Amino acid sequence: MIAITTFENKRVAVFGLGGSGLAVAQSLVAGGAEVVAWDDAPARVEKAAAAGVPTGDLRRENWSGIAALVLSPGVPLTHPAPHWTVQLAHAHHVPIIGDMELFARERAATAPDAPLVAITGTNGKSTTTALIAHLVDACGGTAARGGNIGTPVLELPRPAGDITHVLEVSSYQMDLAPSFNPTVGILLNLSEDHLDRHGSMENYAAIKGRLVAQVMLGTGVAVIGVDDVYCASIADRLDAAGLHVERVSVTGTVDQGIYADGARLMLVRNGKAELFADLAGIGSLRGAHNGQNAAAASLALLALGASREDIVTGLASFPGLAHRMEQVARLGNVLFINDSKATNVDAAAKALSSFHHIYWIAGGRAKTGGIGALAGYFPRIERAYLIGEAMEEFSAALDGDVPYVCCGTLDAAVAQAAKDAAVARTPAVVLLSPACASFDQYPNFEVRGDAFRKEVLKLA
Ligand code: ADP
Repeated sequence: MIAITTFENKRVAVFGLGGSGLAVAQSLVAGGAEVVAWDDAPARVEKAAAAGVPTGDLRRENWSGIAALVLSPGVPLTHPAPHWTVQLAHAHHVPIIGDMELFARERAATAPDAPLVAITGTNGKSTTTALIAHLVDACGGTAARGGNIGTPVLELPRPAGDITHVLEVSSYQMDLAPSFNPTVGILLNLSEDHLDRHGSMENYAAIKGRLVAQVMLGTGVAVIGVDDVYCASIADRLDAAGLHVERVSVTGTVDQGIYADGARLMLVRNGKAELFADLAGIGSLRGAHNGQNAAAASLALLALGASREDIVTGLASFPGLAHRMEQVARLGNVLFINDSKATNVDAAAKALSSFHHIYWIAGGRAKTGGIGALAGYFPRIERAYLIGEAMEEFSAALDGDVPYVCCGTLDAAVAQAAKDAAVARTPAVVLLSPACASFDQYPNFEVRGDAFRKEVLKLA
């Protein structure tokens, strides 16, 4: 845990006592702040109090004596409406910050040159964060990985010169981190998401763009995926402002950075392109989207001073993340892939585009919009095995184009798909990439993916 010393002897309001909120309160207490913590859920307040955190109803607090309101990232700042604590803070001119800001201030005060890599974007954040942490270790360093997913930032080791913090940062967290200034800031991509919180795409892009715009003055590097218009314009703007920008593209080329030519990553320096790494054969980095993640991670490591040779060796040994195109087993000619994290059509499209001769397990609780957008990949699907609430809707969408069978449950689907794939003549893939949420049959996508893995391993 990182003791936050920058608020010593100051009164700090903490609102939101989930995992990261509790860590915030404890870090502030450990650093000598006078904390008053609260949550709208009484059970969370009780739990925090039991953990030794001073709690109190912030409605009854004298706000003129408060140095900052530290808000959990999930609490509405502007959309759909400011939370009541936000309104109170505004009324009393109290700054509103989050855990990333506390980390940034502690780093600035105690170890300003401690290496810090921060990753944001709409998709690929977790994969890229894990890959960078893996590469830091593979290149001889020590990574501390956490942030938005996994370990809350304040539960990691303190910032220090010999530790590279690799943090996944959500737009919610960026909203609350005005002085967060990473050594390397990565913006992977932007597409419409979380507009409920941010109001408009322009606002969402502006907040995400801050992560790269705020890289350390003079020495910082901004790594930006330029394949969507929002990110491309952010890159142009930062370039014009004189920042060190490295670009990533998997659909075109770049003047400075890395672009993908199929599975080959090409490094461009002074307008000259040369082969940097070949991802063909690296099972954990299949697909163009992983080309984007690997290119961004490679540029981050180059910026930190790692050698090309070490980075390339590290890419090849990346184990990948569970539930994201995770290779579970190979039985004879058949590969079994767990992509349970694909809870929407966009994510399933990435998986379907990465394979041929697919025995596709799909379904669950469907999102709005249907699976029509996947039609371009239908020729790759040998047969579909449908499960969960979406069976009726998906079978109607596939009817006449893709052979399908309504299996109902995941275990029935795995058994049937494995049987069919085993007699196929070509190398085949049994792919769980549901394009649906899991909540009709499972508590979350992780449990669904674990169930798939268990069924497959039974076959082995
Ligand atoms: P996040 O943490 O941003 O949700 P993950 O790394 O967990 O992203 O990946 C979630 C899913 O998003 C993956 O299963 C894959 O289908 C898709 N994905 C991964 N990387 C990218 C990328 N760079 N661009 C688009 N989609 C991606």
